[in-house]
Amino acid sequence: MGSAAAYHLARRGVRVLGLDRFGPAHDRGSSHGGSRIIRQSYFEDPAYVPLLLRAYELWAELAERSGREVYRLTGGLFVGPPDCLTVAGSQRAATEWSLPHEMLDAAEIRRRFPTLTPGAGDVALYEAKAGFARPELTVAAHLDLAAREGATLRFDEPVLEWSDGPRGVEVRTARGSYTAGQLVVCPGAWAPALLTELGIPITIERQVLYWLDPVGGTAAFEDHPVYIDENARGQQIYGFPAIDGPRGGVKTAFFRKGRECTPETIDRTVTDREVDEMRERVIQLLPALSGPAVHTATCMYSNTPDEHFVITRPEGYANVTVACGFSGHGFKFVPVVGEVLADLAIDGVTHHPIGLFDPRRLVTT
Ligand SMILES: Cc1cc2nc3c(=O)[nH]c(=O)nc-3n(C[C@H](O)[C@H](O)[C@H](O)COP(=O)(O)OP(=O)(O)OC[C@H]3O[C@@H](n4cnc5c(N)ncnc54)[C@H](O)[C@@H]3O)c2cc1C
Repeated sequence: MGSAAAYHLARRGVRVLGLDRFGPAHDRGSSHGGSRIIRQSYFEDPAYVPLLLRAYELWAELAERSGREVYRLTGGLFVGPPDCLTVAGSQRAATEWSLPHEMLDAAEIRRRFPTLTPGAGDVALYEAKAGFARPELTVAAHLDLAAREGATLRFDEPVLEWSDGPRGVEVRTARGSYTAGQLVVCPGAWAPALLTELGIPITIERQVLYWLDPVGGTAAFEDHPVYIDENARGQQIYGFPAIDGPRGGVKTAFFRKGRECTPETIDRTVTDREVDEMRERVIQLLPALSGPAVHTATCMYSNTPDEHFVITRPEGYANVTVACGFSGHGFKFVPVVGEVLADLAIDGVTHHPIGLFDPRRLVTT
């Protein structure tokens, strides 16, 4: 989010200083692991759809300007019982916004996608425009373009403190102090530490990514849709095509099956038990994924109580803009969030619909 904000701000001709506690496109926050699902039939809430439509335009622009394959459209299947959130919610968003989609019954899913074995009563919404983004490439592309537009980017420079006053903001880092007219804070899992005084309730959750070696090789998964599958208990898993070569496995994960942590306390070790649990669940839909894990990784979600984002100019801070609490589903919005943050920092307002992300909804008084 910060790299996209730096790019959109620099592009509009303002002077930008970008600061990160780690190196560019690192693996210690929430934006690593090779792939992120992008989709438009948004079961979380149809209110996200206009932002997604703009995000897709900006994804295409980012790919073109950076010359990198930051995303790929593979088609996406959102599978489960007809009335579950994944299916009914996606259908609601698709219908409300007239998004192209198809509804498939279990037999049709099996016929068109032979890797999949949905339950007899399951159905799927198929969206041709779904696919995946590449998080590390996306961050690198935004940083490159930001630098090209004149932004100064500093890495391995943690912000220790910030304050807002009548003459602008002051930021103290491990290396020095800076003053600026405006501050944009996109701290990911460090939001509880860096934004304590704003009182935004965010819980950090450890999540695990699994790359399983398919029986019969990766060939059947190379030209494969992304998927989200919900079972009768409401548990969602998701996954990707094979994009890491014949030995790279196929990536899959539980959506929202985490343990609370902090960036300091997260346990980066993934146990055999966790791998077994993932494999047992995913082979219900994709029996070929019964092979060993070739790789695993951990990543953090920053969850708000209602799982909607926080994007705001907080009350009482005239020169500060904040984006946090992306609750495990923010990546597909990265380019449009950059645009929104530039609007808010430069103009104080945005024409994009961000009412859902006002943190005042989370304050219980
Ligand atoms: C396992 C997993 C799977 C996901 N899958 C999807 C998906 O399929 N689709 C989707 O849309 N979204 C997905 N997401 C969510 C998405 O990746 C996140 O919402 C998004 O990456 C959050 O970006 P961010 O910029 O808020 O956080 P980050 O990318 O973590 O960036 C925060 C940055 O702030 C820096 N920072 C923090 N504190 C300081 C400080 N004091 N000083 C200087 N710098 C600081 C950090 O170093 C970091 O670089 C997934 C997330 C995870 C973890």
